[in-house]
Amino acid sequence: MSALSELYEEIALCQQCEIAKFRTNVVPGEGAEDAGILFIGEAPGWHEDQQGRPFVGPAGKYLDELLASISLKRGQVYIANVIKCRPTGNRDPLPLEIRNCRKWLERQIELICPKMVVTLGRYSMAMFFPGKSISKIHGTAQKRDNVIYYAMYHPAAALHQQSLRQAIETDMLEIPSLLAEAKNIAEAEPQPQQLKMFEV
Ligand code: URA
Repeated sequence: MSALSELYEEIALCQQCEIAKFRTNVVPGEGAEDAGILFIGEAPGWHEDQQGRPFVGPAGKYLDELLASISLKRGQVYIANVIKCRPTGNRDPLPLEIRNCRKWLERQIELICPKMVVTLGRYSMAMFFPGKSISKIHGTAQKRDNVIYYAMYHPAAALHQQSLRQAIETDMLEIPSLLAEAKNIAEAEPQPQQLKMFEV
């Protein structure tokens, strides 16, 4: 069993937040265990809770299309969320839930060791670009400690707003060259990267 699969078993036992009581399935994340690129969304919705997989509802279908626009498939990337249980009634994640769940994302990052992290929406953005506003920084990349961080709008928001849709589609097209750059950096400096998440 891989270290990530062992981690999923640990996550499935977590009952730290009240919402754990109401979940159908925990949604740890999925994708290539050695993915060069990690996408981080917000929280599972109804479809994800039903299937135990991230981004499988309408926003997920759109994310698949966005990935296809740069010739990537889900199995070539890793997709996770800031929190692993569905917030009741599809509300936004609470600060306490984000704090409780942070350790799981940290361990996923340690195991996957991505060269590039793409934040989808403001909750994951806040963990890597503290104090920034998504409308200002979407489509911009930051290199820190040999990892490239890139902020994008959330696909669910972009699905329903034409202007955001245009922005997310344009921003997605920047990923291949950034990922190539991130891989070059990792090859030139092969020591393990230290990914830094900020407190939110
Ligand atoms: N929205 C998210 O942020 N994550 C999912 O897994 C699904 C929808």
